[in-house]
Order: sequence, then structure tokens, then C-alpha cells
Amino acid sequence: MLPYSRFEMDTGVANVAVIGGGYAGMAAAVTLAEQRVPVTVFEAAKTLGGSARRIEHRDTVLDNGLHILIGAYSETLRLMRLVGADPERSLLRLPLTWQVHERFLLRAPRLPAPLHLVAGLIGATGAPLSERLSAARFIWRMRRQGYALAQDVTVAALLDQHDQGWRMTRLMWHPLCVSALNTPPASASAQVFLNVLRDALGAGRAASDLLLPRTDLSALFPDPAAAYVTARGGEVLTGQRVTGIDQEAGGTEGAFTVRHAGGERTFSHVICALPPYNAGAFLVGISALADTAEAVECLAYQPIYSVYLCYPPQVRLPAPMLGFESTLLQWAFDRGALGGQHGLIGAVISAEGSHQDLPQDELANLVHQELQQQLGPLPDPLWHRVIAEKRATFACTPGLKRPEARTPLRNFFLAGDYVASDYPATIEAAVRSGVACAQLVLKERD
Ligand SMILES: Cc1cc2nc3c(=O)[nH]c(=O)nc-3n(C[C@H](O)[C@H](O)[C@H](O)COP(=O)(O)OP(=O)(O)OC[C@H]3O[C@@H](n4cnc5c(N)ncnc54)[C@H](O)[C@@H]3O)c2cc1C
Repeated sequence: MLPYSRFEMDTGVANVAVIGGGYAGMAAAVTLAEQRVPVTVFEAAKTLGGSARRIEHRDTVLDNGLHILIGAYSETLRLMRLVGADPERSLLRLPLTWQVHERFLLRAPRLPAPLHLVAGLIGATGAPLSERLSAARFIWRMRRQGYALAQDVTVAALLDQHDQGWRMTRLMWHPLCVSALNTPPASASAQVFLNVLRDALGAGRAASDLLLPRTDLSALFPDPAAAYVTARGGEVLTGQRVTGIDQEAGGTEGAFTVRHAGGERTFSHVICALPPYNAGAFLVGISALADTAEAVECLAYQPIYSVYLCYPPQVRLPAPMLGFESTLLQWAFDRGALGGQHGLIGAVISAEGSHQDLPQDELANLVHQELQQQLGPLPDPLWHRVIAEKRATFACTPGLKRPEARTPLRNFFLAGDYVASDYPATIEAAVRSGVACAQLVLKERD
């Protein structure tokens, strides 16, 4: 192991600023700290995690949004293990199950992929056999063509081209698209959708497992990541909003001054791991990054609403995660079954829709009524909390040009779920992007 001063002499990497302590920023910091590169994370909020973070309400730990991970999140799982956050304990692993309450049930048996899916489709209930076979044929055809399209189209158009029946479309394909891409099928990228199918359904059976958090989303990775970085001599500064990034006046290309709530510091490298709607403002201020700023500012966004209803502890869902059809609410999670918060139900409404026009109390009441219609009478909730993330993810549309990690400015990199990759805006996209940026920094020593 090199002490920092020798490392700096040998590599030219003096110190790295990571701006933003979400999953991307923390993945970058961990990767650098693993190699003993001096790294400082600046996070504006008091809590790490960004789009996937803990929130406290009435002494109850919530998350800003209810998240699902899958077995294909290989980099997230690897980094969790590296920082000592045991995924076996903090995630509930369920074999691929797609359950829409009283309408549809697909349970993949323990067979090698993709047979598990084919068998799951054949055994599924809630759609006619002809439609289930058509879905199996579609997956088979996509697999044969390497899940690649000559030209990107919308998910709705792709499903149409492959004659997917209306029940499978309504009960499986459309909800899958909205869950994975947070973009309505009529405007979602079929190529990115196929990338998700390739990695989740076309890989080994475990890749399609659902992984449901048992802890809050800051404890899942960002907090143990911070402990790991700090233990290796790095710094993780929370409540430190960065207000400006300048190329050092009169300095060499690749030296940066980071202005933040507590003062200013100079770094040899910057990894900008801000959300795209915040990154743009910093990028426009640096002349070499004008084109990058433009690419970032072109992105459009889609919302995700999370509605928490706290019922008396005896209230349970029939499954830890349950889908619903013909309702505003799309998924409900039983936080009692997941993390021991008995009676706490979290409902998810992804992507744009009429719910955005409702006052939050009305929306919470509507979700409560919908749960009653679906599950039978429920007691009144003791309290509710609606969390509206209006720019939850970028809108993942066909042929979208996403900015690259490497920018025209030497030693200045972009990390985040929106940076060019195969994936939609997900935890895994963020983590992979953070790791890739750190590797670009590390490459300089080779
Ligand atoms: C409600 C919701 C539900 C979701 N569900 C899922 C899901 O089920 N599965 C899944 O895989 N993904 C899901 N996602 C997406 C996933 O959470 C994101 O893709 C991922 O967390 C993005 O990480 P990031 O590090 O790229 O960006 P961010 O998490 O946005 O991190 C950027 C960080 O920068 C900080 N910051 C901003 N400005 C400054 C500043 N000036 N100075 C310093 N710091 C600053 C922010 O506070 C934030 O911590 C969901 C997202 C939301 C919002």
C-alpha cells in the first residue's frame, strides 16, 4: 500500500473531489479509497443516498422512494460486500415473481435461465395460454437477435410488432416497462427495455431474482460506504453544498477549486456526481464544458410518487410486494414483512399521470380507498406521508443521447444514473457509472 504522498508522486492523482453523495458518488469514492487515492465527497444533504435515501417522519424511518433491486445488479452487490454491507441480510431475495393482485401470477421455478422464465410463463395464471406463448416467443426472438434493435422504437411499438396480447401487455409488459424505465410505454425506449430484459431475464436465473430492501436506503450502501472511505483516509462531508467549481485561475489544466458551504479547496480531479438538473448549472460555468452542459440540460424527467400509509400493526399485505391493476397505485410494499415496521404500507405510482394534479392528502386518501377496494375493509391510517419526487429519473426515450463520463476537460468526469450506459436510471446504473469514473481516474497511473 502506498502512502498518499508517494501515490501522488507516482500517479499524478493528488486528490479527487466527488461532488454528490448519492449511489454514484459513493461508488466512485469507494473505488478510489480501495486503491488508497485521497478522495473527498461533498454532499449537500445531511443524509447520504440522494435519490435513494432515508427520510424520517414521526420517529419512523421511511425512504424517499420504495426501491426494488434485482439479482443482475452485480456491481451494487459487489460494492455492498466490499464495504461490509451484507446483501444477504439487508435484502430479501425472492425468485422472480410477478403478482398482480387477483389478476395475474407468474412464478419462475428453480430451473436454469431462460427455461425458468418459459416455464413461469407457461404456468402463469391470468392471461390466456396463446398470449403467454406469444410472450415466450417474443423473449426467445429477442434473445436470438442479442436483444439488439437495428433502430430504437418505443416499447409500445415493439410489443405491437410482436403481437403481444392485451392481457399480457396490460398485466406484465407495461407495468414492467414503467417499473424499470419510469417512462410510459408509448414513449419509452425499446432498446433500453431490451437491455434490462437481457440482463435480468437472459442471464443466469439469480439475475432475475427480486431483491427488496430490509433496511433504509442510506443504510443499504451509502452509510457503510462512507465508513469504508473514512477508514481509508478519505473524507465524506455531509451538509456541504458545493456552490461552484472553477478551473484554478492561472493553474494547469486539470486543477480545480471547489467552493462549498465550509470554504474552498483545490483538487487535481473532479467527479461530478450531481443529479443532471443540478449538474447543468455548474457545467455552463466552465467554458470547455459548454457542449456537455447542453447535453445534460436537454434531458427531460419523469416523476415517482411514494405514498406511505401507517395502519395499526396487524394490517398486512398478502405478499411483501404486490402489484395492482386499474388503480392509480401500481405497487404496494409491506414494510412490516420487509423490515419489521408492522402496519406500514408503502405505495408506488411511477411515471407521469393525473395523480400529479391531486393535493397530497387527497392522493393518500385515494390510495387508501383503492387498497380497500382491492383487499377488503381496512382501518383508517394513523397517519400518511406522500413523497413526490418530481424529477425522479430522466425520461428514457428512444435514441436518447446521454452525456459521456469523460468530458472534453481533462480530469473532470461525470457520474450518475443519467450518464451514457445501457441502463435506465437505476441504482445499478448509478453505481456502475461511479465505478467507471473512478477507473478513468485510476487509469492515469498506468
Ligand atoms: C422515488 C424513486 C424510486 C426509485 N425506484 C428505483 C428502483 O426501484 N430501483 C432502482 O434501481 N432505482 C430506482 N430509482 C432510481 C435510483 O434511485 C437512482 O437512479 C439513483 O439513486 C441515482 O443515483 P445518483 O448517484 O446517480 O444520483 P443522486 O441520487 O441524485 O445523487 C446526487 C447527489 O448530489 C447531491 N447534491 C445535489 N446538489 C449538490 C450540491 N450543490 N453540492 C453537493 N451535493 C449536491 C444530492 O443531494 C444527491 O445526494 C428510484 C428513484 C426515485 C427518486
